[in-house]
Amino acid sequence: MSLDASRTPPRPELPEHPAAHETRSRLEHARLTSLTQLHTLTHDSHPDEQLLPAHKTAIEQTLQEIDAAFARIEDGTYGTCQNCHTPVPEERLEILPYTRYCVSCRRHTTTT
Ligand SMILES: [Zn+2]
Repeated sequence: MSLDASRTPPRPELPEHPAAHETRSRLEHARLTSLTQLHTLTHDSHPDEQLLPAHKTAIEQTLQEIDAAFARIEDGTYGTCQNCHTPVPEERLEILPYTRYCVSCRRHTTTT
């Protein structure tokens, strides 16, 4: 095992979220679910076509939130409420892995 001190890492080491691996698979799962919904919505005939555009937009927003959550894992801010900066409870992250806010802040915001 050799430690090469002259080699600079691409970026400073960040403390990774303890459950980063699990979080990533949760997010991957959520993304897959959304993509499947989007596919079903755009490829199958739908009884409630009036609602289709709104439904589609909602899924696309979810996909954007999922991408943003992946970015937050990278920059180390994942799992922290973006409003009050307290940790979001694990139970909430299990249900909504791409959420930006804790439960009480979520009530005061319009986004996820
Ligand atoms: Zn909060």
